Amino acid sequence: MALQTALAVQAAGARVLRAGVFKPRSSPRSFQGLGTRALDILHEVKATTGMPVVTELTDVRRLEEVADIADAVQVGARNMHNYALLTELGRTELPVLLKRGLSATVDELLLAAEYVLCEGNERVILCERGIRTFESAYRFTLDVAAVAVLHERTHLPVVVDPSHAAGRRALVLPLSLAAVAVGADGLLVEVHPAPHLALCDGDQALRTDEFAAYQRQVQRLGAFIRGCEAEVDGLVPETELESA
Ligand code: PEP
Ligand code: MN
Repeated sequence: MALQTALAVQAAGARVLRAGVFKPRSSPRSFQGLGTRALDILHEVKATTGMPVVTELTDVRRLEEVADIADAVQVGARNMHNYALLTELGRTELPVLLKRGLSATVDELLLAAEYVLCEGNERVILCERGIRTFESAYRFTLDVAAVAVLHERTHLPVVVDPSHAAGRRALVLPLSLAAVAVGADGLLVEVHPAPHLALCDGDQALRTDEFAAYQRQVQRLGAFIRGCEAEVDGLVPETELESA
């Protein structure tokens, strides 16, 4: 399934594969990820596709085995405040994909990033993935304003995870478009060949067969936004933009 997913998203233009091996679940009784043996799966998928892989590190004791295979390490929302983990990753050269905590402020996210940076590792990517509010009509509230504010406050790239915010497939495209419009540097999207069989987060996963159409819409908006920015900068005449 991992390979099938990777090949499908790669064909549609995805550049990096993110797959969870160790899963930090709210309940200890929920599926915790396949663990170490899934590192072998990831290894195989990486060798076959040539795609760089990102996977989550939940426990500092797993650093070595994860670093062996991962091109970047995710620190999940529930671990954003795990300063021992952040410090240890700061002592590596691995890019760190740092997700915003469920109830963390922008300041707290930036300070968490600082734990990595001040150890000498400058490769931090921030990720807005939705925060807890009073709203319950979807899983988390995607804080698009935070993306704009983070761009004001830091040079670090900011990506958006629309999947965990949405909680359901139908909302993933609209939230992705909002993320592109606000200037996200990338999107982290969950995709599965058979979401109804997924052991975790199936409701929010796009199907592999719908990913190409999704990707096209995201790309088109991205191109339009870049055109608008170029026009504001006086690089593209407005008429050209309209025909695009
Ligand atoms: C995930 O990325 O699969 C995940 C568990 O996300 P978060 O840490 O944002 O809840
Ligand atoms: Mn998930």
